Amino acid sequence: MKQVYMDTLGCQMNVADSDRMELLLFHFGYSRTPHMEDADLILVNTCSIREKAEQKIFSLFGGIKSLKEANPGLVMGLTGCLAQQDGERLLKRIPCLDFILGPDHVEDIPLAVDRVLETKKPLVWNDFDNKKNYSIPPVTGQGRTNSHPSAFVNIIKGCDKFCSFCVVPFTRGREKSREANEIYDEVRAQVEQGAKEIILLGQNVNAYGKRGLKTPVAFHQLLYGIARIPGVKRLRFTTSYPGDVTQEMLAAYADIDILVNHLHLPAQSGNNRVLEAMRRGNTVEEYLALIETLKTRTPDIELSTDIIVGFPGETDREFEDTLRFMEQVEFSSSYMFCYSPRPGTPAAEFQDDVPEPVKKERLQRTIECQNRLTAMRGEKFLGKEVDVLIEGEINRQGTTLMKGRTPHYWQTHFPGTANRFQPGDFVKVRVEKVAGHALKGQAVVQ
Ligand code: SF4
Repeated sequence: MKQVYMDTLGCQMNVADSDRMELLLFHFGYSRTPHMEDADLILVNTCSIREKAEQKIFSLFGGIKSLKEANPGLVMGLTGCLAQQDGERLLKRIPCLDFILGPDHVEDIPLAVDRVLETKKPLVWNDFDNKKNYSIPPVTGQGRTNSHPSAFVNIIKGCDKFCSFCVVPFTRGREKSREANEIYDEVRAQVEQGAKEIILLGQNVNAYGKRGLKTPVAFHQLLYGIARIPGVKRLRFTTSYPGDVTQEMLAAYADIDILVNHLHLPAQSGNNRVLEAMRRGNTVEEYLALIETLKTRTPDIELSTDIIVGFPGETDREFEDTLRFMEQVEFSSSYMFCYSPRPGTPAAEFQDDVPEPVKKERLQRTIECQNRLTAMRGEKFLGKEVDVLIEGEINRQGTTLMKGRTPHYWQTHFPGTANRFQPGDFVKVRVEKVAGHALKGQAVVQ
């Protein structure tokens, strides 16, 4: 078999796309190698959400150019959002590249490799798929390419929201949902192949089914439908958009046992003027009202979010509002970033007027605030038993520990070895300590 080396940057959508490409390539005669030097094909699945990801790609290809010089038969490809956005321009900047595929061409990966091998000419396929429907066909003789107990299942792609700072609508196109029956079939196949947890994926999962489906199904109905499939032990989804949260979706948390008690709901800011400039489409009060309803119905819900600091025009007072807001909601974790303008977005036209040292200082204060909240949220698990879905082993200072996650999305570590515990097992763990974003404890012998 030939070998493919893959590097994935960015969000879980990219991880899912890489898994899909790995599967398609496997059926095309490539197995994955962790060693770039052994590869016949190098793939970098890119992200363009943050400036840092872009810089990482240029330095990565700078480093691997010599491999191509030593092995002219080596094929190198770049996929993902940066490929979508910058297409031809990237070929000029990285001349060792053989092909560039946008996210709508994930399914074409074997064809692209074949074409490059045959013609020896570089190619760029980054046009959007104009088909009305979003479909991911099953692969004949499909096998999972990893043994992780959680399986990502794409339910919707693209985004219609056009937040002023975000490139996603430009790189992933408009919202398109997959037919529910196709999703149910994929979930059944994943369960048959060993998945215990299903993670529904999309830029805006809760915009699912709003239009374009032959058989209309709303997001909450999809959740109930998946929960009825035998063998699904846990159900999660990411990422959701506050403006698309419905009362029915909130009710599903209380109704569906296997729907985890965790919601990731990006807020971005805790100040209404900044939210408006970001074109988020909701106010702080509306966000808080959703959370209030959810906490009333599902008191042990854990919440996480995304926060951007230093958005153009953000004052000290407006930034302080964000810290107060985070404390009010008591998020258990957050993805926190300094604002950086992304070319082609409306916000790139705004004056990026918050000085870098101020952005950095605000980010530091946001991280400190989140660390306090994380410690506080973690303490409520002390002395309690939590259900952990085991993901695998880790080694900490010479000691082997098992690692897994609770339904609340807390990473949990406990002593044990793979002789006793397997990925995919559910184990009760008594929590003894909170260390950063992880719970530590002992497996409860039953
Ligand atoms: S909702 Fe806003 S931030 Fe989220 S993907 Fe769409 S445009 Fe980007």
